[in-house]
Amino acid sequence: MQEFFILIIFKNMHVDYIIVGLGLAGMAFSEELRRNNKSFLVFEDKSQNSSLVAGGMYNPVILKRFTAVWNGAIQIDVALPFYNILEKLLNKEYHYNVPIYRVFKSIEEQNNWFVACDKPLLKKYMIPEVNHYKYKGIISDFGFGELKNTGRIDTKTLLNDYQYFLLEQQQLIQEQFEHAKLNIKKDCFEYKDIVSKKIVFCEGFGLKKNPFFNTLPMQEVKGELLVIKAPELKIDFLIKAAVSVMPLGNDFYKVGATFNWKDKTKNPTLEGKEELVEKLNSVISVPYEIVDHLAGIRPTIKDRRPLAGKHQEFKNLAILNGLGTRGVMIAPTLAKQLYNHLENGELLNEEVSITRFSKA
Ligand SMILES: Cc1cc2nc3c(=O)[nH]c(=O)nc-3n(C[C@H](O)[C@H](O)[C@H](O)COP(=O)(O)OP(=O)(O)OC[C@H]3O[C@@H](n4cnc5c(N)ncnc54)[C@H](O)[C@@H]3O)c2cc1C
Repeated sequence: MQEFFILIIFKNMHVDYIIVGLGLAGMAFSEELRRNNKSFLVFEDKSQNSSLVAGGMYNPVILKRFTAVWNGAIQIDVALPFYNILEKLLNKEYHYNVPIYRVFKSIEEQNNWFVACDKPLLKKYMIPEVNHYKYKGIISDFGFGELKNTGRIDTKTLLNDYQYFLLEQQQLIQEQFEHAKLNIKKDCFEYKDIVSKKIVFCEGFGLKKNPFFNTLPMQEVKGELLVIKAPELKIDFLIKAAVSVMPLGNDFYKVGATFNWKDKTKNPTLEGKEELVEKLNSVISVPYEIVDHLAGIRPTIKDRRPLAGKHQEFKNLAILNGLGTRGVMIAPTLAKQLYNHLENGELLNEEVSITRFSKA
């Protein structure tokens, strides 16, 4: 994220909320608060960067098995207006329609595609045809299955702009939130010179350092991506094969991603790069130049559902996390649900509530 130097002194401030972390989760919850006229401050220390490196794609179809993503279509219906409001607020385009072309590996996959196209949840997204067109530079022996109504959010530009917006509003503190310095009072929390009624932790993989919630079963899934320049690959759709090749415009493409369950660092590795290059060479046959190599840790929960809810003892401490591989789609819905839970007493769905891990 770009560095901005605005000196703000936060002395004796009283707010409704402190939010810890400004990735997709923190931004979605900040927006719920802003849109409901609540006062808040956000802490961000740049310790994680999953939301900044993300491909930013949204797509409600699992492209391995041609099945529906859990609540995917419903989440997209909430997410698109959410990002549209941000485009208006920040006066920039962040949302791009990007069709997805799934490269078929066999006749059997073509048949499975047609079967899936008939499923009510997937009809809106899957085109019931095999596209046999030979696109220059794409290796495909069995053609493509096309997805429509899918797209990409430019998460890096959006978060960068949103950060600047909060700085201008004097709502962003660019430092680490130190959990040990939190003073828990009967009706509020004191943190340094700030008094807050509630705190929502949106720390991504930073959850591991949070003494209030770090027993929740988060599995780190590191992902690496390459940015390439391939002037001869003239496509405006995402290719999904051994890796995804996603157009960024001006001949640049994002290639990824890897899945590594062991490495807990956010640094790009030679191993990750070699894996991506090997797979990319099986997908495209035109020359390319690697211009960037990125990595981040996806905050993933063992049951592949997100995390929302209140601390068992301190009811005004809450968490919004576990967005896994689909933060773009899930974050707006989950933020809305958590807000309604905290402010209006609405029950959280069992599948997302952290109480699912406290039951015997
Ligand atoms: C390679 C890769 C590709 C991906 N592609 C896609 C994709 O195409 N589509 C999609 O939907 N999702 C994708 N994802 C997943 C997506 O990035 C995540 O679901 C999402 O970013 C998680 O957002 P988050 O806000 O929960 O976590 P994060 O983005 O990790 O944000 C947490 C924030 O909290 C801050 N923080 C943590 N602790 C503290 C503290 N104590 N004090 C202050 N700040 C703190 C961190 O610095 C960070 O900014 C991808 C992820 C990776 C790694």
